[in-house]
Amino acid sequence: MVDQKIPKATAKRLPLYYRHLNSMQQQGKQRISSKELSDAVKVDSATIRKDFSYFGELGRKGYGYDIEHLIYVFRKVLDQDEIAHVALVGVGNLGTALLNYNFIKNNNTKIEIAFDTNDDKVGTTIGGVPIFSVNDLESELKRTNINVAILTVPMHAADEVTERLVNTGIEGILNFTPARLSVPDDVRVRHIDLSVELQSLIYFLKNE
Ligand code: ATP
Repeated sequence: MVDQKIPKATAKRLPLYYRHLNSMQQQGKQRISSKELSDAVKVDSATIRKDFSYFGELGRKGYGYDIEHLIYVFRKVLDQDEIAHVALVGVGNLGTALLNYNFIKNNNTKIEIAFDTNDDKVGTTIGGVPIFSVNDLESELKRTNINVAILTVPMHAADEVTERLVNTGIEGILNFTPARLSVPDDVRVRHIDLSVELQSLIYFLKNE
């Protein structure tokens, strides 16, 4: 039904559309124009129309898009995409916040298991997520089919943990440490360095 060759940029925007469409549906709305959605998600409406065009004829001129149908179509794509089983390594301040947050609004994705070196944390749960000793990383990851890891360890531990994750066959790493990870080509890394983001925002505020 859906063209598998959806551009990466489009695929990245889908969860955003999906989330807003769901909340609009909850507010009782049935139809939406690309302009309205554009205002809500801050993506220009031409891009939205182009993105939607990869999924066939979703809307009609002068009528807009049927929200329920859009949700149905996007859900299928996202379900295929998000067969992700997520672990978190490093239950410090940031790790704890992520466990409590746990992407609940993204219904498909949830952190299932966490690891730490600290004996006071091992054996406890945060936000319902059990925390294991990092010594058990390999055995637990294999047992649970985890394929994505969130890295919130201190920088000095990042390389070692990454190597172990890669050796267990992890497919993707969301790296919150400042370390630049080196991984084989078939492992995807997304780097989120919050202090760099903040610094660059401040830089632009000062210089624009
Ligand atoms: P906290 O105040 O709880 O220490 P933090 O975010 O300031 O939080 P960090 O030093 O960044 O602390 O460490 C984050 C977490 O990673 C800590 O809970 C620490 O025990 C854990 N950790 C450190 N080394 C490793 C490792 N090799 N594998 C897994 N977890 C680790």
